Amino acid sequence: MRLALFGGTFDPIHTAHLAVAREAADHFQLDRVLLIPNAIPPHKERRATAGYRHRLAMVELAAQTDPRFAASRLEEGQTKSYSILTIERVRGEIDPKAELFFLIGADAFSEIETWFRWPDVLERVEFIVLSRPGYTFDIPKGARVHRLETLSLDVSSTVIRRRLAAGETPPELPPAVLEYIRANALYI
Ligand code: ATP
Ligand code: MG
Repeated sequence: MRLALFGGTFDPIHTAHLAVAREAADHFQLDRVLLIPNAIPPHKERRATAGYRHRLAMVELAAQTDPRFAASRLEEGQTKSYSILTIERVRGEIDPKAELFFLIGADAFSEIETWFRWPDVLERVEFIVLSRPGYTFDIPKGARVHRLETLSLDVSSTVIRRRLAAGETPPELPPAVLEYIRANALYI
C-alpha cells in the first residue's frame, strides 16, 4: 500500500490541489491520497475564513473526483496541526505497513525546518514536493525528497477568497465546491 498524506487548510480546496494530487498519484503509483484539513494556524489571515466543518465538507466533495482520494478527519478537533502526530497516528492506527508519502507544496516545504519535531518527520516519510510558481526550496540533509515538476499552477486559496469576497466566480473551484460555498454564503 502506497499511501500519501496531503494536509492543508483547504480554505477552500481548489483545482490545483486536486491536479497536483492526481499527478503525484499517477507518477508515484499512489494507492490512496488522504486529504487532511488542518486546524487553521493562528498566524494565518483571519478575514473570511471558513470553519473546520465547512472546509471538511468541501474536501469531501472534492475527494469524489478521484477514486484514490479520501477526505480525512485525522486533524479534527486539534488546536494545532502537528504533522508528526498525524504521521504517528497513521502508522499506529490506519496502516502500520504502508509506504508513507507526504505531499507538500514548495512554499510549505521550504519552511520544514521550523516544524515541531521536524527531524522525526523527515525520518518517517518520503516527500513529494509540488512545484509552485515563485517558490524554491532546499533539501535538508537526510530528507527523502521527490520533486514533482511536471505541473506548476499559479492558484491559491488566498486569491480565490479575495475573488469570492469581491463577488467574482473563480474558475479554479470544482463545481460542487463552488455550489457549497454559495449555498452556505462562505467567504463573503
Ligand atoms: P492559502 O493561500 O490560504 O495559503 P493555498 O492555496 O496555499 O491556500 P493550502 O491549504 O495552504 O492552500 O495548501 C495545502 C497544501 O497544498 C500545501 O502543501 C501547499 O503548498 C499546497 N498547494 C496549494 N496550492 C498549490 C499549488 N497551486 N500548487 C502546488 N501545491 C499547492
Ligand atoms: Mg498555503
